[in-house]
Amino acid sequence: MFRLVICGLLLAATGIAGRAQQTGTTKTTPAIPLAAQPDYQPSAEKTWDLLHTKIDVRFDYAQRRMPGKVWLTLKPHFYPSKTLTLDAKGMFIHKVALVKPTGMQPLQFNYPDSMQLQILLDKTYQPTDKLTVYVEYTARPDEIKVKGSQAITDAKGLYFINADGKDSTKPIQIWTQGETEATSVWCPIIDKTNQKTTQELSMTVPAKYVTLSNGLLVKQVKNTDGTRTDTWKMDLPHSPYLFFMGVGEYSIVKDKYKNLAVDYYVEPKYASVAKGIFGETPAMMAFFSKLLGVEYPWAKYAQIVGQDYVSGAMENTTSTLHGAGAYQNARQLKDGNSWEIVVAHELFHQWFGDLVTAESWSNLTVNESLADYSEYLWMEYKYGKDRALDYNREAMEGYLAQPGNASKHLVRFQYADKEDMFDGVSYQKGGRILNMLRQYLGDSAFFKGLNVYLTNNKFKNAEAHQLRLAMEEVSGKDLNWFFDQWYFGSGHPKVSLHYQFVDSANMLNVIVEQKQKDKLFYFPIDIDVYTNGKAERSSYWIGKHVSDTIRIAYSTKPTWVNVDPQKLMLWEKDNNLDDAMWLAQMQEGKNYLDKVEALESLAPRWKKEAGYDNALQQLLTDRYYGTRKAALKQLKRGNIKATPASLSLIEKMAATETDLPTRAMALDVLSLQCNAAYETAFTKALQDSSYSVAGAALESLARLDANKAIASAKAQEQDAKGRLKAALQIVDYLKKDTAQASTVLADFKKMAFFEKLQAANGMLYYANRLTDVSNFKKAAGSAIEVYKMLRMDFQGWQTNMLSTLRWMIAVRQQALSNNPNNTLLQEQLKYLQDKTGL
Ligand SMILES: [Zn+2]
Repeated sequence: MFRLVICGLLLAATGIAGRAQQTGTTKTTPAIPLAAQPDYQPSAEKTWDLLHTKIDVRFDYAQRRMPGKVWLTLKPHFYPSKTLTLDAKGMFIHKVALVKPTGMQPLQFNYPDSMQLQILLDKTYQPTDKLTVYVEYTARPDEIKVKGSQAITDAKGLYFINADGKDSTKPIQIWTQGETEATSVWCPIIDKTNQKTTQELSMTVPAKYVTLSNGLLVKQVKNTDGTRTDTWKMDLPHSPYLFFMGVGEYSIVKDKYKNLAVDYYVEPKYASVAKGIFGETPAMMAFFSKLLGVEYPWAKYAQIVGQDYVSGAMENTTSTLHGAGAYQNARQLKDGNSWEIVVAHELFHQWFGDLVTAESWSNLTVNESLADYSEYLWMEYKYGKDRALDYNREAMEGYLAQPGNASKHLVRFQYADKEDMFDGVSYQKGGRILNMLRQYLGDSAFFKGLNVYLTNNKFKNAEAHQLRLAMEEVSGKDLNWFFDQWYFGSGHPKVSLHYQFVDSANMLNVIVEQKQKDKLFYFPIDIDVYTNGKAERSSYWIGKHVSDTIRIAYSTKPTWVNVDPQKLMLWEKDNNLDDAMWLAQMQEGKNYLDKVEALESLAPRWKKEAGYDNALQQLLTDRYYGTRKAALKQLKRGNIKATPASLSLIEKMAATETDLPTRAMALDVLSLQCNAAYETAFTKALQDSSYSVAGAALESLARLDANKAIASAKAQEQDAKGRLKAALQIVDYLKKDTAQASTVLADFKKMAFFEKLQAANGMLYYANRLTDVSNFKKAAGSAIEVYKMLRMDFQGWQTNMLSTLRWMIAVRQQALSNNPNNTLLQEQLKYLQDKTGL
């Protein structure tokens, strides 16, 4: 599953999550065995093995119910058994019978809590026996109510979207979401990850709709009542939570990987952009198959987009479901396909999750950490190491942003709710751990290890131990220390790095201090020592010590030192290089993170020196757009002032930069210069089809001339998303009457937090035009309040607001240099500077 983490990050940024954290009760460690602790989550006991599941359903759109029939073929797992318990949530059960060659033999059953169907069989069955049980039922996903369970209301399993067709803006659709244990809302089944079954599913639907399910479409029959029955078949076994049904009016855009069908099910208006969104799928299938040495395991691959989906995306076997966030129009795609990593993530699950499945939710890492890491692998393969490192840091920050994450084990048997396992630990931390493991073992051993893991466990379940055993089998290395620390332990090192040059002895001491309180870590580390632009690498082990000193002899004094040059470590580091070494790192660093870490370290105390400016120009012309963008971001945030030389590079970027969000940022930097000479550049960029570029151009124009921005905005209103939409919101504030400040202010104060967040930048532009000092302070102050809540740079909003504040200050400073006695400007300037510390 791909979870959308935006809300989580934002909550962390605003401190809301921090408060929520504190309301938890304090727990003391009980002196009773782990297994007996009340929140211990054991793996599901296997009493029966599912073998084959045949399902036949119709849909009652009016009542949002689903009448169904299921034939379950099973056998006792090991011990003989006379009873069978199926998960069946909130259904009407009409009939339970044993399928015999002579016909149906009704069976006694009990359904006391509408959660589990208890069936008494006709005799005791041995593990060598096979039987087929038939259940006729009606699923009622919208009526299901279970006492005391909050989660079940979010886990309806079967979703009717706009079933009565009353919402003209939304298509009529049906989709299902099984993970974690919600398939049993629409099909009586043993709804546990450690079951695997082949499947045959027939759906009877209005003939105008298409259907999608697992496996291949093997039969279509037109019925006389205007419906059609589609039968889908999965010949290979998979887990019940991966069952899928999708129904609706879709265009099926066809693609191919080798001789396999690769289909994209999108609403007809998105048919023209389907390949822009999903079109890398065949290349990803080829790449992952080759990398793993295991061909894509299933008979087809389809991706479908569902409205009102409850998560980001879900890897149902052969039939991935994406939320509507996948939809992007052609203009959005020009700024880059924001859904590409989700496509990679869900595809990788077809191996890790679907072919080999986590044996329990406690071991979710063998699904989600691998899927998370596939995003890195795809980035590295398709866009190169710099892009992968950029992504890697973002993911690591995602894990670090949630304070609760550091105390959770990657594999954990204690959790309140299985949904809690889908967090920054199972995903982002796990992905980074795999990256460290890959580095430790080397590429060929690591990927061969994944191959052995998949081959040994295909169509079965696995725990983290199976991954360890596969890696040990291939590499011959003991990995208990690694897994104990990273998989069955929590936290990460928080290191302080210090450097001492002992000139008398030609000796460099690199001191690695572990500052975290709870436990110490043991890990290998590489160090590159640079002398005159040349690096020499050596490798060390950091012990479980509060402080380790690594001694490196030199003949010529090094210019800078690069600890963890591959930037692999999952840690927080306080790197105490001096400025001269940082500058050398910025100039000589080999990868994106070398350069950008140095830039970010020096930016707050940037010196007006040729060396600094040369390094900046080098970054502005770097091979990777992310580096160029990072340099522009420091300029946009006003940490660095552009020199004429760097400014001429930025002017060029504003016209020709190939990565369009980066080009937009070049415009942002130009607009900070308060220079009317750039008006032509802004007006030209306003015509660009990229929302980022057009949006940045409109905001830039608003800084130069509010009336021109208002006049130009009209043509943009028809079609605006993302940055352009944000710029139009600014223009809305430019249009507001400055005589009505108290109303504008009152409206702003009434807004919900997210609404306020989006309006806050516009509010600054409104404040900028107020000539009443008291109103100016109120308006600017209320926006600055929002700005200050964004402690983390969240989706560029904080940077955008910071840039606007810098611009407001610059405008006033410029005006005051011509008219030093303007008391209004003086007071406004003082207020802005006092409030923001800029
Ligand atoms: Zn996932």
